[in-house]
Formats: sequence, structure tokens, C-alpha cells
Amino acid sequence: MSSLEDLPIRSDLRGLKPYGAPQLDVPVQLNVNENTFGIPENVAISIVEKVAQATLGLNRYPDREFVSLRSALAGFLGHGLVPEQIWAANGSNEILQQFFTAFGGPERKALSFGPTYSMYPNIARGTLTPYTELERESDFDLSPEYLASEISQAKPDIVILCTPNNPTGGSMTLEAIAAAYDAFDGMLVVDEAYQEFSSQPTALSLLPGRERLVISRTMSKAFAFAGARLGYLAADAAVVDAMRIVRLPYHLSALTQAAALAAIEHAEDLLANVEQIKIQRDRISKAVSDFGLKAYASDANFVLVSGFSDPEQIFEKLLERGVLIRNVGIPGTLRITAGTEAETTKLLAELSLLLD
Ligand code: PMP
Repeated sequence: MSSLEDLPIRSDLRGLKPYGAPQLDVPVQLNVNENTFGIPENVAISIVEKVAQATLGLNRYPDREFVSLRSALAGFLGHGLVPEQIWAANGSNEILQQFFTAFGGPERKALSFGPTYSMYPNIARGTLTPYTELERESDFDLSPEYLASEISQAKPDIVILCTPNNPTGGSMTLEAIAAAYDAFDGMLVVDEAYQEFSSQPTALSLLPGRERLVISRTMSKAFAFAGARLGYLAADAAVVDAMRIVRLPYHLSALTQAAALAAIEHAEDLLANVEQIKIQRDRISKAVSDFGLKAYASDANFVLVSGFSDPEQIFEKLLERGVLIRNVGIPGTLRITAGTEAETTKLLAELSLLLD
């Protein structure tokens, strides 16, 4: 077998490693911002029933336009959205990849504000889109004035804003999103992967009259459906037409469509633990502050904690004790997902022992 170095891979990909957090089988997994509460049994049964029905038709390609699923997602989101304004893919990463394929490219400039979700530069690179990250303000905030001034100076074609922001946790006001939109004439993507946990309202209400605005969502976080791979967007119907140009035919399998439909029918059950997760998030923030560390204000299901003199050592020691968290590479920090009460108890007990 040859090695990758021997192959004529694209020169900009040479030497790169695959992206992804460690997948380790340890008792307490708080590293990729999943909903750690499982799927309730009644929901699992409904999903299996719908998937079983779909299995009988697997000899045929799935509905390429997944009309039923788009209708269900439009109904779930509300805000007067219609199915023509909804698009879905295998996770919101694929949504973003399709978006960059349609609106990015070598002649376009994409802009974000870091630290932010580390897949943005990867997706930009994959679609040959030049990508820049500007700094955030103090405590990783983004004010309307700052956004307006930085974006109008940079004149990008695409701006991508993550709110609540991964990995820092803070969220943006609608005023800030509207100011960003008004500051340029390109496409603004608002990544609301963690919106269900936020105290700030969704940007969906900003869509009417803003045809360059795209709201990206996922079922991977609050919805407890990461394994099913279902991300979606809401935007002007013309944006959806652009996505339909670049998507691979039949990209959403009939099994995915069936499972997602069943999950949306049980949205209330699947989202039932959001309040409990927020309680655990706030509990982590308070406890680490009591330990003398700093918790950045979070509107998501995770907390970025700073003040570690050796974050990698803490990461490793927690792992030895069966608790997996995330070192996102911001000096002195670690990111911790909020899970169940028992998981938080274990995490905090181990962390306090390590800090003593
Ligand atoms: N956006 C953000 C901000 C995320 O944190 C993630 C997952 N880590 C995603 C998008 C992608 O999630 P998925 O592809 O599972 O929808």
C-alpha cells in the first residue's frame, strides 16, 4: 500500500490531518456538545416504525426534494416559513458545505470572527473559498457597531456568524445580526446550531425582506439526534434553489428522511431535557468560578472555562478518570459540554480533586 504522501492529492490538502474530536469509549463524554440524555423509548419506537415502513421502499431512490420533511421542518420552525424556504442535508456541516459550494469559490471572500467553529475554515478550504477570521471584542462579544465597522471595511462576499458561538458560548442580539446584514451586500449565514439553549431570540424573525440571510440549524444538539445526521436551513426560496443546484442527487437517504420525520413529530419529547441541560450548564459555570477559574457566559449547552495553567494536563487527567472534555486550543482554556446531573457531578468532583 502507498502512503498519502505518495499520492497526487491537491497541493493545498497535502500534509493535512482529518478533522475530528477523539471518539473514546469512556463513561462521561462531554466533548462534542451532544445532548447526553438518550432518546426516550416511545420516540425510539416511533422512529423504528417509520424507518421500517421506509425500508420496504428502499429499492427506489428517495424523494430528492424531501417535501414531507421540509414541510415538517417549516411547521416546527414556525415564523410563517413555507417548505420552499427550507433545505436539509446530512448535518449542518453538509448544509454549510453546500452553501459554500454555491456561494463561495476562489473569487469570493468569506469572513467570520474567531475564535469560532473550527469547521468554517475547513469547509472554506474544501470549496476553495478564501476565508478570514477577525478578532472578537472583549469576552468574545460582537456588538452591532463593531460588526458594522469591520464588515463594511472588509467587504466580504460571505459572512458567517455563530450564535451561540462555539466554542466561547456567548450569543448575539438580533440588533447585532441586523447590523451585520446591513453592513455589506453579500450572503450572511447565521449558524444557530445551539439556538434551542439560548436566551436570545432566533434570527428567523429577521428573514422577511432579507433575501441574503441564511439561518442554519441542526438536530444534532438540543434535539438529541446527532447520530441521525440532519441539519437544515431557512432562507429565501431563491437560496434553496441555489442549494438544489449543488446538492448531489438523493443526498438525503429515505431512512434519514423517515427518522427525521418521526423525530420532528416527537420534538417536544426530544427537547424535553433542554431546561435540565441549561441548569447543568449554569451549575458548571458557578462551580468552576468557585474553584477560582473563569467561566465565559454561555447561552449554549457547553461552557468555555479559562484559568488553567496547563489545560492539556487537566484534559489528560480527567480522561484517566473517565471524563472526556475538549481542548479547543485557546490558551489556558477547556470546553465542557453540559450533560446530565450525574455527569456534571462526576466532572466537578474529579476537577476539584485535580485542582486541589
Ligand atoms: N455548527 C456548529 C457551531 C457546531 O458546533 C456544529 C457541531 N459541532 C455544527 C455546526 C455541525 O453539526 P452537525 O453537522 O452535526 O449538524
